Amino acid sequence: MTYVVTESCIKCKYTDCVEVCPVDCFYEGKNMLVIHPDECIDCGVCEPECPPEAILPDTDPEAEKWLDLNTQYSEQWPNITRKKDAPTDAESHQGEDDKYNKYFTPEPGSGDD
Ligand code: SF4
Ligand code: SF4
Repeated sequence: MTYVVTESCIKCKYTDCVEVCPVDCFYEGKNMLVIHPDECIDCGVCEPECPPEAILPDTDPEAEKWLDLNTQYSEQWPNITRKKDAPTDAESHQGEDDKYNKYFTPEPGSGDD
């Protein structure tokens, strides 16, 4: 089992989650983070830290379709372990529908650099 990052993170990316992860298994894309399923130890401490509630256990029916995306991009995007400023328009995208189709991009973020 693992936790996964889901659609609500897209364009919000508050990064509160990375500060609490004991095994540093978050990876950063341009518009969202993902969790590496093979590195996550399933501790659950990140879940309540996420302001838009984007993090779910993979046992949640909503999480299922996001597992492949977390698996794929955690292999391609840089690791992120330190909190950084959220995008200036993050608040305006909270709770928006269909963010994956509107904004998802495979472009990597800058990680801890
Ligand atoms: S706290 Fe939530 S919204 Fe912020 S980066 Fe982590 S998963 Fe994304
Ligand atoms: S559940 Fe624990 S190990 Fe997995 S991503 Fe969240 S904080 Fe990290």
